[in-house]
Amino acid sequence: MAAKETILVVEDEEKIADVLKSYLEREGFSVSTATDGEEALRLHASLSPVLVLLDLMLPKISGEEVCRKIRARGNTPVIMLTAKAEEASILGGLAIGADDYVTKPFSPRQVVARVHALLRRAGTAQHDELRFDGDWLVIDTTTRTVFREGAAVTLTPSEYSLLVALATHPGRTFTRDELIQLALKDDFEGYDRVIDTHMKNLRQKIEPDAKQPRYLITVHGMGYRFGGGTK
Ligand code: CA
Repeated sequence: MAAKETILVVEDEEKIADVLKSYLEREGFSVSTATDGEEALRLHASLSPVLVLLDLMLPKISGEEVCRKIRARGNTPVIMLTAKAEEASILGGLAIGADDYVTKPFSPRQVVARVHALLRRAGTAQHDELRFDGDWLVIDTTTRTVFREGAAVTLTPSEYSLLVALATHPGRTFTRDELIQLALKDDFEGYDRVIDTHMKNLRQKIEPDAKQPRYLITVHGMGYRFGGGTK
């Protein structure tokens, strides 16, 4: 039998850690738990988990700092667990390299679903390609090349970063501020309408019909989401 895949649960609230552990063990994972940031980093180094569930508010070293350090070590997928009041930190969570987040109170089942989804995504990422609608739109993250109907499309670095930020989270709505933080960072030109300009250009480059976007969907009053299905 193949060795069980280990998931590291970092959570100082014992009840939450126990519930997550039992749900994940039922799914066939081996689960280790850490109750503070120091222990989390120690166990991450010694166990090489396939995924980390990481509470944001932790004793000793904050979840954000733990996430940054894990990210500096490699590509272990990280799902942040955040309390409602900390929602403002979600953006920070994704910007520091978390792959996904779940807001407390959550149903353990929802967390398990996210774990499976992220592991699938991480598995696909080993091929370093995101494919949509068959091969209609392909994003090769190794060479940072985008193909539209098999033909390479020339994108600026900002356009590429925006597209990847959206395409790796299909269906999730991002505000313009989030997109600036996630994708533009140092390149931020000072006002959020810059996102709209990038989106307009991106649509002309990658959409089947820029006037009726299939991938880069405007969410009125909110921002943008990626609409493509991975089939
Ligand atoms: Ca906590």
